[in-house]
Order: sequence, then structure tokens, then C-alpha cells
Amino acid sequence: MWLTGSATATAALHTALSSPSTTTAPSPLRFLFLAAGPLLLIAAVGLLLRRRSRLRDLAQPLAIPRAVFAAAHRADEAGIRERAAEEVARLAGHTQRNGAAPATTERAGESCATAEALLRLARGVPDLAGVFALVHEGCAALDGSKAPLPLCFFHPLHGPAIRRIPWRPSDDGERFQVGACATCVRALRARREPDTLTVEQAGRPVPYFDVPPEDSLWSATGYGSLLTDTSLTTHVQRALDPAR
Ligand SMILES: [Zn+2]
Repeated sequence: MWLTGSATATAALHTALSSPSTTTAPSPLRFLFLAAGPLLLIAAVGLLLRRRSRLRDLAQPLAIPRAVFAAAHRADEAGIRERAAEEVARLAGHTQRNGAAPATTERAGESCATAEALLRLARGVPDLAGVFALVHEGCAALDGSKAPLPLCFFHPLHGPAIRRIPWRPSDDGERFQVGACATCVRALRARREPDTLTVEQAGRPVPYFDVPPEDSLWSATGYGSLLTDTSLTTHVQRALDPAR
């Protein structure tokens, strides 16, 4: 039934399109219409996509774009540093231009200044991941998030966590609630090792959180996941300036 109807409709469409060309000479206007039609369609689709992406940006005006995390995760250290610098500059711009309460602006400004200081001193990918975590904290402050989730505990360059999940570093170890991205949540549910940020220890890469917390700011804080009463900004400020 559907095929019959469709065949009839196709035949009618074919007739409608072909019959004028058999009776009249093609006019320049018709050629213009045929040429301009696809272009107008492309322009309309382009406008629609731009509008959608603008609406997405307005929904989360300050968050570090997911594409930035994806690019940073693939990049080498120089590339990550470049993107971290761009995000610090973007947060600085938002902090200056926003119309938030002075306390909010001050908190975001502190995260931004700390991220800038850390960026100058960063000696490797784990420190640069810390710059992203501080920018993320500054964005959350400006957004007025009540209980913002940190970046993914297992690898901060995965982007923001989607939820907190229980995690135990070893079978006999203490249990923590850590923020995890969607990919890491799926990996843990399937009892697979998540992709983790590693550091060099005795010539081999180990997960950053396996370094004793007294030896690593990132292991001690989990880039924000392991903090309950203080901000990551405060911890990094103290590490950069122990006199505070
Ligand atoms: Zn993750």
C-alpha cells in the first residue's frame, strides 16, 4: 500500500517537474532559483546550528568548553599549557565583566589569580591539570553553583565530574567519594581500570593518587574531589605561599 502510494506520488512529482521543460524554454529565473535554492538551504541550516550553539553557550556561559578538555587531553605538554593559559584569560575576562556580588567576584578572582600563579610555576601535566581545576572552581563561583562537582578525579582533563562515586584506592584502604566523568563511571561499573592521570615514579608511570599525599598536592586534594571544607584554591594558595 505504502509502496503503491509512494510510486504514485513519485510519478506525480516527476510529471510536475518534467512537464514545464517539455512545453516551455528554461528561463534564466528558473536556473537562478535552482542554483540559489541549495545555497539558501545551507545558509538556513548554518543559522540554525549557530543559534543552537549560542543557546548552549548561554546555558553554561562560564564553564570550560568540553572541546577544550578533549583537545587538552590529546595535546602534549606545550599544547595543554597553551589551552590552560587561554582558559585563565577567559575566566579573568568573565570575572572583570560579571555583575555578581563582590564576595562572588572576589572568590572567582582568587581562583583566577591562583590559576595564573600556578600556570607560571607549572612543571608538568599534573600541575597544568591543576590550572584547569582552579579555572573550573572560579567558573563555578561566578555561576553561583551551590555544590559544584570538581573535575574528574581519575583524570581532570576528562572534564567535569557528572557525579560522586565511592572509590577505594586499595582493597584494604579507606573509602572515598570522588567525582567521576561519565566515561570513568562506566569503566568502574564494568570493573575496568579508568584512564588515569599518571606521574613518573622511579622511572615508571603511576596514577597520581598513588603518590603519598604528603609528597603531592594533587594526591592530597584529588584536584578538589577529596576536599570537604576548603576550596582547591585555598590549598593551592597555601602550597604556593606557605606563609599564608
Ligand atoms: Zn574521567
